[in-house]
Amino acid sequence: MKKLIKGLREFKSSYFSTHQELFEQLSHGQKPRVLFITCSDSRLDPNLITQAQVGELFVIRNAGNIIPPYGATNGGEGATIEYAVQALGIQQIIICGHSHCGAMKGLLKLQSLREDLPLVYDWLKYAEATRRLVLDHYGHYQFEELLEIMIAENVLTQIENLRTYPVIHSKLYQGQLKIYAWIYHIESGEVLAYDPHKHAYVLPQTQLAESETEDTTLNPFLNCDVGIRSQADEVTQTQDFTIAGSERFPIPHLSPEQRERIYRGSNHSN
Ligand SMILES: [Zn+2]
Repeated sequence: MKKLIKGLREFKSSYFSTHQELFEQLSHGQKPRVLFITCSDSRLDPNLITQAQVGELFVIRNAGNIIPPYGATNGGEGATIEYAVQALGIQQIIICGHSHCGAMKGLLKLQSLREDLPLVYDWLKYAEATRRLVLDHYGHYQFEELLEIMIAENVLTQIENLRTYPVIHSKLYQGQLKIYAWIYHIESGEVLAYDPHKHAYVLPQTQLAESETEDTTLNPFLNCDVGIRSQADEVTQTQDFTIAGSERFPIPHLSPEQRERIYRGSNHSN
């Protein structure tokens, strides 16, 4: 605690005093551009890894970067999502998992949590779809590999949970929201982003370079960050590009690509 109190003094005398104008501006209101959903793990700092300034990220943190589906709980996650998207007008959401995630390890040995950590056990039921998918499709892998797959798949599961919120559903329909899946690697400091075309996590800058070569008149979002595309994007996409295994899908419900992603599992998880 002494260290933290010393830190408070240092913050006030150094960072705060050199950024007074910014803090003065922030005292009148916030305009964060991104809702960043991640794990509570102390080794991951959203502002640090993205080098975002104070006021730029609106953050939800909990064990396992989990979003209970709409109506499943009356917890803070739903209220925070609604406030972020509806009241603050945030148009970009990142769900960021991370390597060595304790919650995902818990998911791999769920039964042992039942007695020791009953609240964690209950909480992890919102990641049950991840557990089921991974164990059904990758059960032959060793623990470490299984953990990596679990982490990668869980981010995608939580995006599906996120889509169950009416406000998210509506904004995606209108093309006013983009959702990205990230994984932060503690050991390398690197972030990988999910590429829905490749069904793999890739370097985010690779996606930016690729998107610049595509015809942006077909899809105005291609020049922006590439991640899980919005529902409206995907509709445009399936109409304008040929995607293996998918057909034209005129109504904005689950596209064949989405269905494939949800049920396929991922072969590229690191
Ligand atoms: Zn974690």
